[in-house]
Amino acid sequence: MSDRLLIVEDESVLRETLVYNFEHEGYEVKSAENGKEGLRLAREWHPDLILLDVMLPEMNGFEVTKALRAEQDVPILLLTARTEEIDRVVGFEIGADDYITKPFGMRELMARVKTRLKTHRLIHSEKDEAAADDSRGEMVFGNLQIDRKRYEIRINDQVITLKPREMDLLCYLAENSGRAISRDELLSQVWGWDYYGGSRTVDVHIRWLRSKIEENPSQPKRIVTVFGKGYRFEG
Ligand code: CA
Repeated sequence: MSDRLLIVEDESVLRETLVYNFEHEGYEVKSAENGKEGLRLAREWHPDLILLDVMLPEMNGFEVTKALRAEQDVPILLLTARTEEIDRVVGFEIGADDYITKPFGMRELMARVKTRLKTHRLIHSEKDEAAADDSRGEMVFGNLQIDRKRYEIRINDQVITLKPREMDLLCYLAENSGRAISRDELLSQVWGWDYYGGSRTVDVHIRWLRSKIEENPSQPKRIVTVFGKGYRFEG
């Protein structure tokens, strides 16, 4: 069965070029020319991956990402003409999985799409395995309970919702509790070995995790920074 790709792009020449190329590559493709229509199609069609332009009429790519993140775990790759770091960070914080800056080469984009689909599938099959295995279900560290089976954490019995990537990151850190882990290792283990985003991605997610699990996020006690190396989880 071919992968379903939703392309949301308002520049018609680029949109048509993308549709043509991905169809040629064997994908099942649908496209939209504004954010609202893109969101509607995503909800209705449940694509395997979304290529989403940031600057769009009706609803921009960030707004669409935000809306979808609350509902679906679909990988979202943002297309942007802007290169500022801040856009990258905003994109990741609201839940985009990857970023590509225009102009980009078609081969590069296709490689990134392929990688992202593969990683997504891998993470999901691992999640399924973990869910099937009761003994791996729960980890407890003081007042922090990490329930992989239910995909949630509790602090003092209060349920706290994490985004899928935050959960994966926390689980990896917690499984390796007490060991300093480099950003590169986290990138390869949590995002996939050929993930394009830099180590900044890790830092952004760590900051988010800290804001959710640390009593005082500016003086973290659970996820500590190991200078010159990366991070260490303290059980
Ligand atoms: Ca645009």
